Amino acid sequence: MQLRDYQQAAVDAVLTHFRRTDDAAVIVLPTGAGKSIVIAELARLARFPILVLAHVKELVEQNHAKFQAYGFDGGIYSAGLGRKESQHAVTFASVQSLSRNLQQFSGYYSLLIVDECHRISEESESQYQQVISHLRQQNPQLKVLGLTATPYRLDKGWIYQQHHHGYVRTDQSVPFKKCVYELPLRHLISRGYLTPPTVIDAPAARYQFDELPKEYTEAELDQFLARCPRVTKAICEQLLVLAEQRRGVMVFAASVNHAAEIARYLPNAETAVITGATPGKQRDLLIEQFKQQQLKFLINVAVLTTGFDAPHVDLIAILRRTASVSLYQQIVGRGLRLYDGKDDCLVIDYAGNNYDLHQPEIGIVRPNPNSELVQVLCPECGYGNLFWGLKDADGDVIEHHGRRCQGLVNDPADAEQQIQCGFRYQYKECPQCNAQNDIAARQCHDCGAQLIDADNLLRQALQLKDRKVLRCAGISAQADGELLTLIYHDEDGVELKERFDFASAGQRKKFNELFCRRVTAKPQPLAAAVEVVDQIADLVAPDFVIARQQKKFWKIEHRIFDYQGPYRKAHQA
Ligand SMILES: [Zn+2]
Ligand SMILES: [Zn+2]
Repeated sequence: MQLRDYQQAAVDAVLTHFRRTDDAAVIVLPTGAGKSIVIAELARLARFPILVLAHVKELVEQNHAKFQAYGFDGGIYSAGLGRKESQHAVTFASVQSLSRNLQQFSGYYSLLIVDECHRISEESESQYQQVISHLRQQNPQLKVLGLTATPYRLDKGWIYQQHHHGYVRTDQSVPFKKCVYELPLRHLISRGYLTPPTVIDAPAARYQFDELPKEYTEAELDQFLARCPRVTKAICEQLLVLAEQRRGVMVFAASVNHAAEIARYLPNAETAVITGATPGKQRDLLIEQFKQQQLKFLINVAVLTTGFDAPHVDLIAILRRTASVSLYQQIVGRGLRLYDGKDDCLVIDYAGNNYDLHQPEIGIVRPNPNSELVQVLCPECGYGNLFWGLKDADGDVIEHHGRRCQGLVNDPADAEQQIQCGFRYQYKECPQCNAQNDIAARQCHDCGAQLIDADNLLRQALQLKDRKVLRCAGISAQADGELLTLIYHDEDGVELKERFDFASAGQRKKFNELFCRRVTAKPQPLAAAVEVVDQIADLVAPDFVIARQQKKFWKIEHRIFDYQGPYRKAHQA
């Protein structure tokens, strides 16, 4: 079979990986990349017998058909398709049917391929995990390969730990160890395998979803939307005009009531609504009518973001908030399939989501709409981390929200393995063993000691007469030879001072660890007191400083950085 270059690259990456290890692997291919061809080629090359799992009968059928099309013979095991064949070298199965009939698959399998593998959860009682542990009993060296377009889920986070580009996504226990291949959407568009999107940046009206709280109920959402009927009406009027030159329009609504409201403004005979509550048969019928272009407008509420395939779609209207760039990309992806006579797909964001279609997912919700992705080099391993942050007019990073370097480094304990770089940009030091911990940690990851909570620290210090709590608004510095005086200022002109002797290696190190971890322009440590004075504007000031009275002066006991809690910080209302 003739594979496209990236399909071949994906296959090669999988083979290379499994020659080295049995660790579960995942490949990430955007919708439209031709996943079933990659699966067919892997099935052809693998040592038999193998199993290919999918969660819906349509995918089982599609993957099987592609394999047959290349002249191979595979079995189907899916109650929904009315076939229960388990004797083939390659079996395409639905996870529901297979997990209910595990005894029919009690032989040896070398490879398990899971399509749409972001659906696998870690819980051992899940159907996928039942299948995997059953097959592992027969073959402890079972290779597990997942394919997905969406390795990051808002509810579950990343599905793999390490990326082949040398970074860590998560240190949590997740279904896959490593992403061995990932193809960016941009590649498919520039090669003409997908339709280019045309993003219209002039919506007739826009929902101010940022006025909603971060977490909200559907009732709150409906109340919010009920206050903007004119917005919905204006949006639908614009859609009608734009749709005149278009074949198929997909509208992504925020709630069931919202969808019904939108439908009222669109031509009744050409419009359908699909929600999670739409019965399966009716849903299939509506989708078929939409694909046949008997319906022009298909409104949906959180159901047609993945797996839905209507290539003629050439207008995507987003009327809902999307909390991650992956979700935004999935939505836009519905309109990028190739179709005869389709030159582009209009994309209009009426919800002010403000995402870039090609922006990489970093797995952290954007802290606020002004945040942008910034690259921050690790001073320890050199890895270029991507974090949310801010840049100044010259493009220099002035602030970022990264906590820990995501670079992969060789594990000193095991030459075969790589582990996450230990450098932390923000951290809490353990009072027992001095290990650095995540700022949210309650227990030391190294010795298990209880970590001091910033709120407790502040509460106690505020009650004690011999402690002073300074709400820090900024820092300044003076150098006298190698002696550095650092001055903490509050909003009212009160100061506390602290001295660091830069002639002492220990004090230099301490100063750098405290204040220079997030200086992004200069990963090198500051070596002299006068350098600190020069660069004081780039250093990070703590939010609070706690000092203890010692005879006539105040000794700094704690500096609280990156405070998040009920006490008011300087410059906060
Ligand atoms: Zn690093
Ligand atoms: Zn410790």
